[in-house]
Amino acid sequence: MLRPFTPLPKITLIGTLAYLCLSPLTVSGFSKTLPHSTTTMASPMQPAEKNKPMILILTTGGTIAGQASGNGIGYTAAKQDGNHLVSAVPALQNEAEIKVESVSQIGSQDMSDAILSKLAKHIQKVEQDPTIKGIVITHGTDTMEETAFFLNNVIRHEKPIVMVGAMRAPGYVSADGPANLLQAVKVAASPAAMHRPVMIVMNDTILDAHSAQKMNTTSVQTFQSPNSGPIGIVNEAQVRFFHPAQPAMNRIFAIPTTTPFPRVDIIYSHVQMDAAPIEDAVKRGAKGIILAGVGNGNTSSEALNALKKAANNGVIIVRASRVATGFVDRNVEVDDDKNHFIAAEDLNPQKARILLQLLLNNKETNLIHIQKAFSKID
Ligand code: ASP
Repeated sequence: MLRPFTPLPKITLIGTLAYLCLSPLTVSGFSKTLPHSTTTMASPMQPAEKNKPMILILTTGGTIAGQASGNGIGYTAAKQDGNHLVSAVPALQNEAEIKVESVSQIGSQDMSDAILSKLAKHIQKVEQDPTIKGIVITHGTDTMEETAFFLNNVIRHEKPIVMVGAMRAPGYVSADGPANLLQAVKVAASPAAMHRPVMIVMNDTILDAHSAQKMNTTSVQTFQSPNSGPIGIVNEAQVRFFHPAQPAMNRIFAIPTTTPFPRVDIIYSHVQMDAAPIEDAVKRGAKGIILAGVGNGNTSSEALNALKKAANNGVIIVRASRVATGFVDRNVEVDDDKNHFIAAEDLNPQKARILLQLLLNNKETNLIHIQKAFSKID
């Protein structure tokens, strides 16, 4: 005869789960504590009275804080303050205690060296504040990857630092800012997000600052890491990282104290390229030039000769590519050893520019050391 199904008493199930979650794993008589879980879940694992972490939201402006103009197309970035952003997303209160501070109120096309420094110094202080468990930075998407990369190279951090923005301003149909902000706070509040690089969280996707790029002018799925893929995903239920956190491989620089940072120009290569833009950059006092080259960081013979001349005069030349994916390798079609050039590897021109500025600000002119910084070798 079939016996009627008797559910386990609830208390036993919860108790068992709690035991499994909290007790160290015992393997063949050895007690071994697992490293940080790479997933944080919402219910049913969490106690009812969750002790919510304090998350600091630093606002800088951007479309996420914009205002639609009413014609269905236009909007103005950086119109709303941080309290407005937070009050538009009541669900944030379920995730964390929120503190909001404004750093700037700009469209990120106007991001400046002075604001970058101010933001970095502020975050460095917050890193020392034990009451704050994670940091979220709201930012325009246009230059978000540069700010993320800059912060990742100047702040030695343990706490999650998460950048977030929006592609559709408040007032648009299906504005993405509120959901992105909620996901960013979820990630910043997650213990699994500690000891990670600076992150960009947009549209369910978690990306690292080194490889994230804006890839589409208008799509909500604009940020991608075309070489390496996302490092995790976030949805209503969970924050998931694909791999455990690893020690940072990049060199950490002192935050520049003087602005503007050393002048580094980006020169975009094209058909019928001549020497003029390179010579102009040198005349304007560029200490470094990033070539947004064709293909594997290449350019016309005329432009190449101008770059060689600049390198001989002490300007640091970094070959990057105008192509969005792949690496620029040393000594393939262009002889970097002979010409004293640097290969940008997987850094796009705008990130290569930031790294070279940090190196120059650090008085680094040794080409071997500079190449090592681009290759992430100590
Ligand atoms: N121009 C805006 C900005 O970067 C675009 C955006 O936020 O998506 O501030």
